[in-house]
Amino acid sequence: MKAILPGSTVGVLGSGQLGRMFAIAARRMGYRVHTFSPDSDTPTGQVADREFEHPYDDLDAVREFARGVEVVTFEFENVPTETAEAAAQFAPVRPSGSVLHTTQHRLREKTFLSSHGFPVTPFRHVRSLPDLTAALAETGLPAVLKTAGFGYDGKGQTRIDSEEEAPAAFEALRGREGVVEAFVDFEREVSVVAARGPGGEFAHYGVVENTHSRHILDLSVAPARVAEAVEREAVGIARAVLEELGVVGVTCVEFFLTRSGKLLVNELAPRPHNSGHHTFDACVTSQFEQQLRAVCNLPLGSTELLRPAAMANLLGDLWQEGEPDWRAAAAFPNVKLHLYGKTDARPGRKMGHLTALAATPEEAARCALAARRALTRRAGG
Ligand code: AMP
Repeated sequence: MKAILPGSTVGVLGSGQLGRMFAIAARRMGYRVHTFSPDSDTPTGQVADREFEHPYDDLDAVREFARGVEVVTFEFENVPTETAEAAAQFAPVRPSGSVLHTTQHRLREKTFLSSHGFPVTPFRHVRSLPDLTAALAETGLPAVLKTAGFGYDGKGQTRIDSEEEAPAAFEALRGREGVVEAFVDFEREVSVVAARGPGGEFAHYGVVENTHSRHILDLSVAPARVAEAVEREAVGIARAVLEELGVVGVTCVEFFLTRSGKLLVNELAPRPHNSGHHTFDACVTSQFEQQLRAVCNLPLGSTELLRPAAMANLLGDLWQEGEPDWRAAAAFPNVKLHLYGKTDARPGRKMGHLTALAATPEEAARCALAARRALTRRAGG
């Protein structure tokens, strides 16, 4: 398999911040970048050489896009499978459409994981209210009902604390298929971002510790404060998942770590991930460059963490009282500001992030949070 070398053009399906940071890494190494999505002036498009603005189901446009690039990758996994297939007629698609097919549907993903022996939260398929009632008897309460299909950042999730809440939770599915799973009283959430090359080469960034707020990632700290045995097990599971899936590129495996020290896989994302953003500033090779290296069949780069780091997300909520005070964040010399070029700061929308580097993970977390607070601390407030 030949390597796709600097000077070539790489294509990205999707146009959000993940594509933007991928494009920054690719352009730095002398690649050209084309992006494809239904939108214009996108976070990726602002950095790319060319922005294709068409619906994902405009397969003629997808083919034209694929003809103009050496390889196609994703930054958004909810791209329809037919789009990946149309692109694959003209350029290698990495990871493949089948990886996308498995991971863009919660039920397929969980079925894949459990059938390959990976530890997951007990789950049941739900198509009707009697299904749900029967499933709750098996999973126990509390439980979480999620849409089986598309959904991210906690969208389409309802917690069920008692049997009486089942009908309302089922209604919230609005006719979509569901997956119900036991609510995990976890000690913490962790993730492993890792990469696999076309020949099976593997590299990982170790274990990162994640805190969510309203189901959206809020803070990631690297390295995670977990026992060495947990770290080894998490990385081992991630490696096996990437191998079984046959991923080419970066994939994130998100886990719950239970109070008894057991790891359960919660979710897979076959692309660079929010919990790997710190790698941009804190590692020898960022997850975005690693994605590029993997899909272009270049040797993978070192994942060494140069300093402990923490990443705090900047959601649209921060804009409620007006433009955040960027100067105040810049006053933290070890904090790096990333903004995604989005103009519409809606609550819950990921607008950017801060990465703090420090001597310890605890200090990095404190520093990232202090810098974020400074953004909205008004004079006299
Ligand atoms: P998901 O979209 O499934 O990754 O869920 C987003 C977040 O909701 C997770 O990162 C957890 O913080 C929380 N969550 C989801 N499922 C469960 C569960 N079964 N038990 C406890 N918390 C959950």
